[in-house]
Amino acid sequence: MLTNDQLDRFDRENFFHPSTHLAQHARGESPSRIVKTAKGVFIEDRDGNKLLDGFGGLYCVNVGYGQESIIEAIAEQAKELAYYHAYAGHGTEASINLAKMVIDRAPDHMSKVYFGLSGSDANETNIKLIWYYNNILGRPEKKKIISRWRGYHGSGLMTGSLTGLAGFQRKFDLPLERVFHTTAPYYYRRKDLAMSEADFVAHCVAELEMRIEREGADTIAAFIGEPVLGTGGIVPPPEGYWKAISAVLEKHDILLIADEVVTGFGRLGSMFGSDHYGLKPDLITIAKGLTSAYAPLSGTIVSDKVWKVLEQGTDENGPIGHGWTYSAHPIGAAAGVANLKLIDELGLVKNAAETGAYLRAAMKDALSDHPHVGDIRGEGMLMAVEFVKDRESRTFYDPSEKVGPNLAAALISEGVIARAMPEGDILGYAPPLCLTREEADQIVAATKKAVIAVLG
Ligand code: PMP
Repeated sequence: MLTNDQLDRFDRENFFHPSTHLAQHARGESPSRIVKTAKGVFIEDRDGNKLLDGFGGLYCVNVGYGQESIIEAIAEQAKELAYYHAYAGHGTEASINLAKMVIDRAPDHMSKVYFGLSGSDANETNIKLIWYYNNILGRPEKKKIISRWRGYHGSGLMTGSLTGLAGFQRKFDLPLERVFHTTAPYYYRRKDLAMSEADFVAHCVAELEMRIEREGADTIAAFIGEPVLGTGGIVPPPEGYWKAISAVLEKHDILLIADEVVTGFGRLGSMFGSDHYGLKPDLITIAKGLTSAYAPLSGTIVSDKVWKVLEQGTDENGPIGHGWTYSAHPIGAAAGVANLKLIDELGLVKNAAETGAYLRAAMKDALSDHPHVGDIRGEGMLMAVEFVKDRESRTFYDPSEKVGPNLAAALISEGVIARAMPEGDILGYAPPLCLTREEADQIVAATKKAVIAVLG
């Protein structure tokens, strides 16, 4: 076994970490943690530190860590058949079973699921399918995609373009053409404090209409959005937002992609965010909670309407020229089947709603009065606490003060992981959906201590 010193050295010499300050890491200036094992909502590192993972990995470990039934399903699948491809009509019992389970759970008008590996590749698939769709329908000009500022849709070329966070585009020559961003439905950060929530929704809709007008509806293929903004700040939409936006899209024949990579499979206290907010998407992106990250797997769920055109396309052009070597990988599929069963057996969707509401209420009790806590918000088992320099004038801290990262670091000292979201001073919480009330209390108590330690 390698010693911790060896691991530390080999890591810094060889390992190119994602989303990491490369130079600081190589110099040994930034903290690193070698995670060894995990059970339930707790992870344990090589030094024996046990931390309550209040962000469920990267909001993906929905069923919690160390679930035996998933581990066994993976082992069984690996013994029987670790891999075969899914091209040209090939499948495995696991991949077919999982496809049926996903469609059974998805909104009624959804028809088929295409499996990928990550949320990013699933969104790349979405955009390719939409371009294909409009080519088959004989409207080659209808190709632009509308996303939102603060949306997160992945790190690929197209998906990194759809993402509306500067840090994911800077120096990468993104966004690519054909993508533009519209207003984030982030009521707390509205410019005009006097604006009511209803007026703010009307403002978001007017901005969208104006932009569609300017670009020309016949050039716009789709709108992509997360039912609840995730990485951009964990922001549930204002009342009536999705209904009003959907009406505009329908009017202009613009497809809707619901990016449910975070919200799918119970996170909001409903199986899908689309059901939760009454959305009728044409495509749904899934990943994370599909396997609770026990193995990499993602998917694009396609509606009847889109499917019919894709079928027509292959009749005219031959097999669809889009596939990954690992599409519907049997080990991922086996993990997915066991994971979705467990979500049902443990009643995790209901627990996400109930314990999530308890967590939010407890956090409000503990911190609402703190002068630097501006907003505590969330839905189901997804929550954010946003910090401000001055509550009355709603003045934010300068990013150089690193208030968010300092709070997250202080929270780790109290034994709990939350995520300092990339823009603004926001602590994000997305614990496994199996969180208990006692564990919720631990998150709240630790957060209160961390806030007092950093902000007084
Ligand atoms: N969409 C959303 C809403 C996400 O939150 C993420 C990842 N955080 C992605 C897409 C990309 O998924 P992945 O990192 O698996 O490529």
